Amino acid sequence: MPATNHFDFAVVGGGFAGSLTAAILAAAGRRVALFERLTHPRFAVGESSTPTAGLLVRDLAEQYGLPWLAHLAKYGDWKQNLPDVRCGLKRGFAYFDHRAQAPPPDCGDPASQLLVSANPDAARGDLHWHRADVDHWLFQKAAQLVALAQDGVSVTATRCGEGWSLKLACADKTAAGDSPANQRTRRESADDEVTASFLIDATGGANVSGEAQPQARWWKTQTAACFTHLRHVGAWNDALPAPVRAAHPFPCDASAQHHLVDGGWVWLLRFDDSTTSVGRVDGLLHQRSTNHHASPVCSLQDWRRRLQPYAKLASLFDHAEEVDEIGWRRSPRLQRLLVPAAGADWAMLPAAAGQVDPLHSTGIAHSLCGIEPLVEALLGPASQRTARLQAYSTRLEIELEWIDEIVGAAYQCMGDFRHFAAATMLYFAAATSYELARVAGRRPWFLCADDQKLRESVARWRESVGQAPPIEQLEAELREWLRPWNHVGLCDAQAQNLYRYETT
Ligand SMILES: Cc1cc2nc3c(=O)[nH]c(=O)nc-3n(C[C@H](O)[C@H](O)[C@H](O)COP(=O)(O)OP(=O)(O)OC[C@H]3O[C@@H](n4cnc5c(N)ncnc54)[C@H](O)[C@@H]3O)c2cc1C
Repeated sequence: MPATNHFDFAVVGGGFAGSLTAAILAAAGRRVALFERLTHPRFAVGESSTPTAGLLVRDLAEQYGLPWLAHLAKYGDWKQNLPDVRCGLKRGFAYFDHRAQAPPPDCGDPASQLLVSANPDAARGDLHWHRADVDHWLFQKAAQLVALAQDGVSVTATRCGEGWSLKLACADKTAAGDSPANQRTRRESADDEVTASFLIDATGGANVSGEAQPQARWWKTQTAACFTHLRHVGAWNDALPAPVRAAHPFPCDASAQHHLVDGGWVWLLRFDDSTTSVGRVDGLLHQRSTNHHASPVCSLQDWRRRLQPYAKLASLFDHAEEVDEIGWRRSPRLQRLLVPAAGADWAMLPAAAGQVDPLHSTGIAHSLCGIEPLVEALLGPASQRTARLQAYSTRLEIELEWIDEIVGAAYQCMGDFRHFAAATMLYFAAATSYELARVAGRRPWFLCADDQKLRESVARWRESVGQAPPIEQLEAELREWLRPWNHVGLCDAQAQNLYRYETT
């Protein structure tokens, strides 16, 4: 094989996480190949970002000399510097309760709404990433740095000699031959086979190395989802009475908006063009099959039909239109785990290794949080690499388990909004503790998964939930047991479920 077809690293999967990993390794002087099965721009779900993601983007940009990356951290910077990459403003998290046969949540009663601010104003706001645009832009940025970047090719990998042989098959019909995308990103001529010393699986779950095993574990979260993008979705803010709107700590449509319905919840993430990411997550815990929805959504008509019991929420879709090229997507059971997540000459990015659930928007941030130790292991001393990769694998597994613990608690409590609002505090305490630690220069594991005391407190509270004591007792225990991690005034009855931004 000619030397030009050999790479130090082959990154398989050109979503945002694969492209960013490839860009970092190439910027550090390594010879990198990056492959994506589909042709950019391509649809991807997973759009609501968080302050944790913003901090990680900023730090990775600084550490690896990629100033353009920092534009993804905050809304004001993004709008100024990336006008063609679509996004939406996210001022925080919003949750609204809807029950069939019950009056709609329009009275501003804290029993039916929870808003948690994540930033002080729009300029410093977080974002919804329009993933088709962001992933395309990042792929192009990576293509400028790596030795070879190709989309429209599906990769299969097998071991060969000291490394990996990668077979490249034209995967996307629209990319057959030299599509504009391939011409744009091709930097050296690619054969249909290349070799690499190290393989990075950034496929989001395809297990391209074949080295990891699916792990059958008892997930506390058991869900499946359907989703799409729609145009002209009405604003929830406009559906609320003026005094309710006025009390909100931020305009509630500039948020990761969660609408709790019987059996699950609906998300709305509004982009700055007229489109909105919409999806529905259904709990599977009490269903026999873990592999399908009882009543799948395949059209706007189905979507409206399933929302019919919630008249006010349903009315947001009166004038909605489908975005033709996207269509309705449906996931199988969302929870999955492949382990180990790394070996001596291969590694999986977080979303390749596992996934829990969209509740609380942990995916983007977790991916970024995993890239950091992984690239350090790969760029650090060769003598430490294997041990560091083993540690990375263990860490990912523990982090995914921890996400399951926190998200699973929210599902456990979803039957009653007051219980649910209490359970969300576990996430906000862990997320804000992580962010404050990071700002102070420390680097905890994702959502402080390495903080044993926090984990014990959460486990203790969950146990208490299982015994079904009065909600007042659960709230008091939560306030007490979360105290060391409550830096921003969470669990405060006086706040009436409307948490303003707290600087600390
Ligand atoms: C329903 C749902 C909702 C979500 N919502 C959120 C949210 O609101 N916020 C959040 O932070 N996270 C969310 N997530 C999680 C988020 O989607 C993931 O964390 C994120 O997409 C991971 O990005 P990635 O680049 O690692 O993988 P992906 O985006 O999955 O990209 C992997 C890429 O690999 C390519 N690929 C696959 N196989 C091959 C192959 N053999 N050869 C070449 N290429 C290949 C694929 O085409 C794909 O483009 C959600 C997840 C789901 C399922």
